[in-house]
Amino acid sequence: MELPFAEAWKIKMVEPLRKSTREEREQWLREAHYNVFMLKAEQVYIDCLTDSGTGAMSDRQWSAMMLGDESYAGATSFYKFQEVVQRLFGFKYVIPTHQGRAAENVLFSYLVKEGDVVPGNAHFDTTKGHIEARKAKAIDVTIDEAKNTQLELPFKGNVSLEKLEKVLSGGQRDGYRVPFMVLTVTNNTVGGQPVSMQNIRETCALCHQYGVPVVMDSARFAENAYFIKMREDGYQDKTIKEIAREMYSYVDAMTMSAKKDGLVNMGGFIAMNNKDWYEGAKLFCIPFEGFLTYGGLNGRDLNALAVGLDENTEFPMLETRIHQVHYLAEKLDEYGIPYQRPVGGHALFIDADKILCNVPKEEFPAQTLTCELYLEAGIRGCEIGYILADRDPVTRENRFGGLDLLRLCIPRRVYTDNHMNVIAAALKNVYDRRHEITRGVAIEWEAPLMRHFTVQLKRL
Ligand SMILES: *Cc1c(COP(=O)(O)O)cnc(C)c1O
Repeated sequence: MELPFAEAWKIKMVEPLRKSTREEREQWLREAHYNVFMLKAEQVYIDCLTDSGTGAMSDRQWSAMMLGDESYAGATSFYKFQEVVQRLFGFKYVIPTHQGRAAENVLFSYLVKEGDVVPGNAHFDTTKGHIEARKAKAIDVTIDEAKNTQLELPFKGNVSLEKLEKVLSGGQRDGYRVPFMVLTVTNNTVGGQPVSMQNIRETCALCHQYGVPVVMDSARFAENAYFIKMREDGYQDKTIKEIAREMYSYVDAMTMSAKKDGLVNMGGFIAMNNKDWYEGAKLFCIPFEGFLTYGGLNGRDLNALAVGLDENTEFPMLETRIHQVHYLAEKLDEYGIPYQRPVGGHALFIDADKILCNVPKEEFPAQTLTCELYLEAGIRGCEIGYILADRDPVTRENRFGGLDLLRLCIPRRVYTDNHMNVIAAALKNVYDRRHEITRGVAIEWEAPLMRHFTVQLKRL
């Protein structure tokens, strides 16, 4: 008999979970104004709010923390970390930052000027924010197929070369500057979908033809490398480290949120070979993040990150992770619950519009489904839908044009497949009574910006 699949690690330290009753959850959710960001973590049984900074570190990472060098300047921890980044990505210059958005802030402070245009395969919201805050424009150049949630494509995060060329040639024609292009791996915004090596190569070649450098937004670069190995011809026999090295051989620089594929709870960095960029970014690291050898992090954090990057570019670690996400997806297939297809690397996006058909869009179906799942079993997901989409800045009307999804992120090395079974069963229970759910939620109070974090709602 063939042996079944099993995790590539065993568990040494555990954190007890607390279950609650439906009555308790009813009260807590009411007190949280039907916004799951306002729940206390101890009121949550299984937390799928995000995969950012929520992973479990290994015994090697914890032991590396004990060797952290907390010197203000020139700490051994920095040099250990720098050596790993140089070896994995092939970049000479490395600047640590406290997280991904800080890396963006430091690099973009040097690179982005008013009136610039920055194309990207669906910029992450903080990336877009850091571009727009500098009065520049972020233009999405992801392939159109990514918008069709039911279409199965191996590399749905790819860049449309046609759309990209329009932006690049438009700059030469209309006189705007394109300081760089952002290539996000995996493409978070369209559901953690990977970008193929061929697409990375062609995207970079096209940008370079126009003299435009490429910055890789690298939060989930290792998951992307895993998908290249499994899905792209010619990469089956290559290691994850070889694939990652090739990915970065085409681009000019990287920003990274290490809270994802760095397997740490806090951290980020910038790396590049261009000395001018390094000198330019340095000027913004010191006032925003701190001296160049710590960049807002403790020495122990840098040590843990150095080990995490090395560990998470080994195949068994990634296979275990992606296997679990796909295991949950198969359960949902079994129960007929619709989600964005194919499942990506870090999360499932449940199609709330297709489930809560009786809840009008003005009553926020995905937010309603998020609440229902919490009430059902204490599972916390996150609305990626009409509340997140916010209002049109001119008309102040709600934007109902996009998708209305419930996102379930899977933290790395935290839950077992039994927890996946609970998530799937709870969703099935809600799905089975979907026709009885006819009313949603209404906004009672909202912030003028980024309302989804703090919005206060009432049940209708
Ligand atoms: C999380 C993320 C960021 C921002 O990183 P933080 O560490 O949350 O500041 C940027 N880009 C992508 C693709 C991300 O997933």
